[in-house]
Amino acid sequence: MKKFHPTYAETSGYRGSTQNKHRLSGSEAATLRNSVLVRDHHKCSYCNFHGEKWQEVGYVDGDSSNNKLNNLTTVCPMCNLILNSGLGCQIESIVELYKSSEYNQNKIVQITRKMRSNGKSDINIIRVLGLKDKVPFKRNKKYLSVLFAFVTSWKGSSGDVEEALRYGYIG
Ligand SMILES: [Zn+2]
Repeated sequence: MKKFHPTYAETSGYRGSTQNKHRLSGSEAATLRNSVLVRDHHKCSYCNFHGEKWQEVGYVDGDSSNNKLNNLTTVCPMCNLILNSGLGCQIESIVELYKSSEYNQNKIVQITRKMRSNGKSDINIIRVLGLKDKVPFKRNKKYLSVLFAFVTSWKGSSGDVEEALRYGYIG
């Protein structure tokens, strides 16, 4: 599994973004995306979660204009939110950041998904993970690089994120 920490994309590759001039056209992007998913066997590079649906394709170096195959990787909805913490923390408030944890970020995602699928509450999961000292999001990669992200069980108005996360729960 690739090591990771909460971060954000410099130029947003998030769906709906129209600001990235290096964005591929619709069919180019779909072909590339599909070849990455097939290459990775639809398995998230950060937590090993496997899913045929809802997996995203992320940029290893965070640069959404770098569409080389070795910069593209399969990422699940939960890890994708952690890698796009600006979106998760600020817009939807579904990602929380902590200074200390008993586990690394990969394990945090795996344990969260497992416990949630067993019906455990966020408070319960946070206690098991040993997440302490909650801190706010800052648009500063160095600051984020020593933090641990927790994706809450938030249910909100954005059906897309919600549904993707629900799919994540049952993994
Ligand atoms: Zn993942």
